[in-house]
Amino acid sequence: MNFLRLFARNLREGPYTEAFPFAPAPTAKRFRGKIEFDAETCEGCRLCERVCPAGAIKMERTAEGMTFDCWHDTCVFCGNCEFHCPTKSIHQTADWHLAHRQEDKYRMVEHGLIPFQVCTECGSKGLATAPAAGSANPPLTAEEFQHVKSLCPKCRGKFMRARKTKAKA
Ligand code: SF4
Ligand code: SF4
Repeated sequence: MNFLRLFARNLREGPYTEAFPFAPAPTAKRFRGKIEFDAETCEGCRLCERVCPAGAIKMERTAEGMTFDCWHDTCVFCGNCEFHCPTKSIHQTADWHLAHRQEDKYRMVEHGLIPFQVCTECGSKGLATAPAAGSANPPLTAEEFQHVKSLCPKCRGKFMRARKTKAKA
């Protein structure tokens, strides 16, 4: 009797399981999946590489800039990198479609290149990091901020020292 009731209910309501891979499977909104990287906003601080418990992120200085690689098949989806990134350049998507063939394992990587900028003062190459403007007194104007941003660390120091001396005089 129980069986017949169950059978009738199943016929009425349909299967409980998803038809995946023949139909899309729903994904929870806050699902922690594949990592996405934005080289445009990244400042190359390498914090993500340091906090990654799985060693899935590797960054390297090359002649063109800093390379970023996140290996999807090594990542354990903990979200540490996204949490600690100061520029919000790493996002965990809800994409879990990471099944792959053995021969494709070296393609399971999110790759990016953070290009070096050329210092407008001395011409040396370096990462375009945001200036630490918090301690500047008086505060940097928008124009000064952009100028400092275009400088290498050495020229930034020089500019800030000269500015301080000028402000005191
Ligand atoms: S989510 Fe966790 S394991 Fe994956 S790359 Fe980020 S820090 Fe590493
Ligand atoms: S992604 Fe974020 S944490 Fe990683 S190097 Fe870039 S700015 Fe730093």
